[in-house]
Amino acid sequence: MVFEGLADKLQETFKKLRGKGKLSETDINEAMREVRMALLEADVNFKVVKDFIANIKEKAIGQEVMQSLTPAQFVVKIVNDELTALMGGTQSRITVSSRPPTIIMLVGLQGAGKTTTAGKLAHLLKKQSKRPLLVAADIYRPAAIKQLQVLGGQLDIPVFTVDECKDAVLIAQKAIEYATSYARDTVIIDTAGRLHINEDLMQELKSIKTKVKPHEILLVVDAMTGQDSVTVAESFNKDLGLDGVILTKLDGDARGGAALSIKAVTGCPIKFTGMGEKLDALEIFHPDRMASRILGMGDVLSLIEKAGTSIDLEQAKEMEKKLRKDDFNLDDFLSQLQQVRKLGPLDQILGMLPGMGDLKKLKDVEIDEKELTRTEAIIRSMTKKERRDASLINGSRRKRIAMGSGTRVQDVNKLLKQFAEAKKMMKRFQDMQKSGKKSFGGF
Ligand code: GDP
Repeated sequence: MVFEGLADKLQETFKKLRGKGKLSETDINEAMREVRMALLEADVNFKVVKDFIANIKEKAIGQEVMQSLTPAQFVVKIVNDELTALMGGTQSRITVSSRPPTIIMLVGLQGAGKTTTAGKLAHLLKKQSKRPLLVAADIYRPAAIKQLQVLGGQLDIPVFTVDECKDAVLIAQKAIEYATSYARDTVIIDTAGRLHINEDLMQELKSIKTKVKPHEILLVVDAMTGQDSVTVAESFNKDLGLDGVILTKLDGDARGGAALSIKAVTGCPIKFTGMGEKLDALEIFHPDRMASRILGMGDVLSLIEKAGTSIDLEQAKEMEKKLRKDDFNLDDFLSQLQQVRKLGPLDQILGMLPGMGDLKKLKDVEIDEKELTRTEAIIRSMTKKERRDASLINGSRRKRIAMGSGTRVQDVNKLLKQFAEAKKMMKRFQDMQKSGKKSFGGF
């Protein structure tokens, strides 16, 4: 997960401040030295780091600590606020024209994920009841046009192009006429990319901009390229004037420097992030939630939003009742696994939970597709009674269950262990909720 290294280091640093009644200037200086190192290692722009640290020191040293917070929590709060500000403060929305269609022009270098992102964005808009039109304007690469047509087919969203046409501006103009005639309210233009920025490319993009007057010009950049992506953003912004950035491949092991530097260096806010290759892997970028994830305080809001679209509410309510009565059984465990699976890759979900450090242990609970099928087979080979009360499952029953499900006794043992772990974890969450303990990211 992106930011994992940074998140680990920052959490380590702040843990050291915990338990101190009063923080001296030396304590803060030492902590800030570590924060600086962590940010530089995460490939954050040097100047950005310098200003960031100076801001925090100014706010932390010699301040009256708020009554409700311990000194350590106070420092974490300042860092949290500053990280949020660094990434733009509040969510930057895309402009929606009062006179449709809204025109969104996607620009970027080849391989950044522009075409995939065009599809993802169209999908997101469609889910918000919009009627997008995708426009294939990459006249140099027929494969890119084909790729967009395939995506459009999968999403059931029309893709506009003009066969054999070598004029990207004309394609864009015709697309807008088409959108007006066919009541498509948002036009997403996938422009041509190049391996490197060059004059021809910029000229073509400028012509499209002049002729179709897009409401949004969004640059798609690859987070894995680190500081290069910041340079690319600066350059596109200077020549074209950007309204925002879409940072792709944040699901990979990029160190996160781009996400933390782009706004500060270029002034352009990140509006969306790409979190995977699938078409639903585009997230709206919320600076505050991202800061919170980096500090290990979780991003429960995003998780709830994700859950809102993937999870069956009735079932969730039922589950909560069971948890309260402490009668969470193996049937429930199976349906929980199936629900969680719908949310996305486990490490991304863990990253959204507060106190992720502790939860990494849960990585043992692998929930890949194959494992899930096996788990299902094992649970289905148990009797009703066993499913309700796992403590009944002794040695000979384990053997029978393994035989019945075509698995090994070790697999059954592993599953029962996972179940016991999950049950314990849930109990912990329940207790935390009950005692109403407010934890500031575990600090
Ligand atoms: P384009 O040349 O800019 O149009 O790039 P493409 O859309 O063809 O994407 C290049 C590659 O990056 C493809 O293999 C995509 O599946 C992949 N890709 C795009 N966005 C993401 C993302 O957010 N995460 C990951 N892991 N891969 C992505």
